[in-house]
Amino acid sequence: MKIINTILVSLLSHLPKWIVKPFASPYVAGVTVNEAVETIKSLNNKGYVTTIDILGEHVATEEESYRIRDDYLNLYDRIEGLDANISLKPTHLGMEIDPELSESNLLSILEKAKEKNNFMRIDMENSPYTDSTIDIYKKCLKKYDKVGMVLQSYLQRTKQDIENLDSAKFNCRICKGIYRESEKIAYHGKEEIRDRFFADVKAILTGKGYVAIATHDKLLIDKIENWIIEKKIPLNRFEFQVLYGVPMGNRLQRLLDKGYTVRNYVPFGEAWFDYSIRRLKENPNIMWYVLGNMFKK
Ligand SMILES: Cc1cc2nc3c(=O)[nH]c(=O)nc-3n(C[C@H](O)[C@H](O)[C@H](O)COP(=O)(O)OP(=O)(O)OC[C@H]3O[C@@H](n4cnc5c(N)ncnc54)[C@H](O)[C@@H]3O)c2cc1C
Repeated sequence: MKIINTILVSLLSHLPKWIVKPFASPYVAGVTVNEAVETIKSLNNKGYVTTIDILGEHVATEEESYRIRDDYLNLYDRIEGLDANISLKPTHLGMEIDPELSESNLLSILEKAKEKNNFMRIDMENSPYTDSTIDIYKKCLKKYDKVGMVLQSYLQRTKQDIENLDSAKFNCRICKGIYRESEKIAYHGKEEIRDRFFADVKAILTGKGYVAIATHDKLLIDKIENWIIEKKIPLNRFEFQVLYGVPMGNRLQRLLDKGYTVRNYVPFGEAWFDYSIRRLKENPNIMWYVLGNMFKK
């Protein structure tokens, strides 16, 4: 079954976009800002808070990075009054071209976040960008408190990064990590990464920071929730985060019912195709859910 799934996903990546779109639609809140805003409203009405991401990464020119910067500046206007903040990727704002370019773009967007009294989170990309992303985060934090970053539990360095960054202003999303990294710098075992994730969340919560617990792994969520209850961690120290559209059964509703904050990461934009193929590669079973739903309709 695994082989059939893998073959089907690689076939999908070569098909015309109109064929792939039904498989993409559960994960992407549309192509336009208007479509994304409608999705946010609907999620807010169900009790979820959101973080919005304009799909894309690794821009090729300075001009493109300025266009993305301006799109993010406008996005802060468009989400005013909604329970939504913004997550963005440094290479989408030019980090691959020049770290100083992405820094200046990110600082302009941060200025706008400040003007709107909103929050900005810097996503974490693959390991060549870890140090420069942390550096930019530290510079942002000097200018405005409502800024956060991401650390990946599969990286061996993360334990030390958490120790170095710990402070009352430290706001960190912990995720397992999505990129392929070498065994020299990353853990590869499923259980090992899960254990590291749990340890990283505990390290932030026994320190001074705020943690966004970003996983769909229900066993891990259960383990962390039990620990949070046992240690009486206040609700204002953490939130749960998931990617929009990933099937979670009633687990998210149960978290909401207990009063926890649950944030959906909502991606949208013209780069939906590449993003969706990535999601399908991670979990080819999604194809079968989508096909099942199409036939039920
Ligand atoms: C809110 C959020 C923000 C993130 N930001 C970053 C980031 O900045 N940098 C980074 O490197 N990574 C990021 N990630 C991705 C993360 O690192 C993992 O690759 C991804 O979440 C899968 O890991 P998992 O913890 O859900 O556990 P897994 O063990 O991979 O998955 C648990 C279960 O959820 C299902 N599942 C997981 N992911 C998906 C999916 N995408 N589609 C369908 N089903 C899925 C699987 O079937 C599995 O059964 C983010 C994830 C989330 C939830």
